[in-house]
Amino acid sequence: TWNTADLVRKDKAHMLHPVSNLRQLQEYGPLVMARGEGVYLWDTDGKRYIDAFAGLWNVNVGHGRRELADAMREQGERLAFSPTFFGLATPPTIELAAKLASLFPGDLNYFNFTSGGAESNETAIKIARYYWALRGKPDKVKVLSRMMAYHGIAMGALSATGIPAYWQDFGPRPAGFIHLTPPYYYRHGEGMTEDEFVDSLVRELEETIQREGADTIAAFIGEPIQGAGGVVVPPDRYWPAIAEVLRRHDILLILDEVITGFGRTGTLFGMQQYGITPDIVSFAKGVTSGYVPLGGVGVSSKIFDVLAEPDRVFMHGFTYSGHPVACAVALRNIQIIEEENLAANAGEVGAYMIGELSKLLERPYVGNVRGKGLMMLVELVADKETKAKFDPAQNLGGRLQAATRKRGIIVRCNPDSIAIAPPLILTKEEASTVVEAIADSLTEVLG
Ligand code: PLP
Repeated sequence: TWNTADLVRKDKAHMLHPVSNLRQLQEYGPLVMARGEGVYLWDTDGKRYIDAFAGLWNVNVGHGRRELADAMREQGERLAFSPTFFGLATPPTIELAAKLASLFPGDLNYFNFTSGGAESNETAIKIARYYWALRGKPDKVKVLSRMMAYHGIAMGALSATGIPAYWQDFGPRPAGFIHLTPPYYYRHGEGMTEDEFVDSLVRELEETIQREGADTIAAFIGEPIQGAGGVVVPPDRYWPAIAEVLRRHDILLILDEVITGFGRTGTLFGMQQYGITPDIVSFAKGVTSGYVPLGGVGVSSKIFDVLAEPDRVFMHGFTYSGHPVACAVALRNIQIIEEENLAANAGEVGAYMIGELSKLLERPYVGNVRGKGLMMLVELVADKETKAKFDPAQNLGGRLQAATRKRGIIVRCNPDSIAIAPPLILTKEEASTVVEAIADSLTEVLG
C-alpha cells in the first residue's frame, strides 16, 4: 500500500520532471505508477491502466517479466560491474555483441554499447567523423538529418533532432547540422503523387550535397520511421532512393533504430521494412525493453576495418559501455522477443489496430491515421480541408490526456495528435479496448 498524497507532496517538493509542464505539475502533481504486469500498470491508488505507450515506446515484452528480473539478479550477484575500457570485457557483453551481429542485416558486425539513445547517436556521429578523419578527410564532419527527427537531447543528438521545441532556450548548438524535409506525405506532399514527393526529397538531398560539398558531409542520420516527431512512415521508395544518393556521394548512412528496433514495426528492425542496410546503426529502448538502461551502435565491417587499422586508441566510451547487468538482461529480452514471435505479433495486431483507428477518419477533426506495426498516430486537425491545426490555447493535449487516463489508457497526447505504441505482446482484444477508449475520449473532448 502506498501513501499517494505523501508521494505527490514529495514529488512537487523535489522532482524536476523531464519533458513535463513544471508549472502544471506543481498544481496537479504526478500520476504515480506502482506496479506493472503484461500490458497493464497500476497506480498507487490501485487504478489499472493499459500502458498503450509501452513506457516510452520501449517496454516491448511488457511489464513484470520474472525472467528479466532473474537475469538482473543473477548477473548482479555474479559480477555487477566491470568495464569494457582498456581491453576488458565480461561474458554477457561479448555474447550480446555476437547475438546482435547475428540479428542485424548486412555486415553490421561490431558493437559499442551505451546507456541510451542519445548516447548512441552521439557515438554514431563521432564514429562517422572519426572514420573520415582516419581516411584523411578531417573536414568531412557535417551531419544531415530531417525536421521532425528525434535523436535525443544531448548536444550532438539534439542538433540532429529536428523538433525546435527541444532546442529553444538552450543556447547555441554545435555547427554543421543541416535539416532536410521529412518524408511526411500528409503535410509536405500536397499536390504530388507519392512518387513525385519522393523525387522532390531526393532532389532536395542532391541539391544540399551540391551546395555544401560532399567533402564536408560525414553522414546522414534518420529514423526508419520517425517516432516522437509524429510517426512519419515514409513512402516505400524513400529509403532506397536516399541510400543510393548517399552511397554515390560517399556519405555514411546512420539509421536510428532506437524506437523501430527489436520488433516494433513488425520486423525485428525498421530497416528491414525498406530493404536497406546502414553503415552505422544506433539502438536502445527495446534492446532491454527498458528493464535496465542500455543502448549501442553497430558498425559495418567497412567502418570497423578503418577504425582498427591505425596503431592508436579509440578515444570514445562511457563508464557504463557494455554494463554486464544490462547486457545480461538484453540477451534474455531478445530471447523472449524471438521465442514469442513478438515482431510478427506487432505486425499483425498493429495492422488490425491501425485499421480500427482508421474508422475515426469519418470524424471531422481526424485528419490522418498512420503507423506501422505497433507504432501509430492519430493526427487531429481543426479543419480537414485546410489541415489547419488546433489553437494551442485550447490545451487539447492536456484535455485528451485527462480523458484517456480517466478511461484507464496511457497514450501520448499532443496538442494535435495521439501517439500509440503498446507493448508487443498486445492482443487484438486489448487493442480494441484501447481504440474504444481513444474514440470515447475524442468524443468527450471534441464531440
Ligand atoms: N532516438 C530515437 C528515435 C528516440 O525515439 C529516442 C528517445 O525517444 C532517442 C533517440 C533518445 O533516446 P534516450 O532518451 O534513451 O536518450
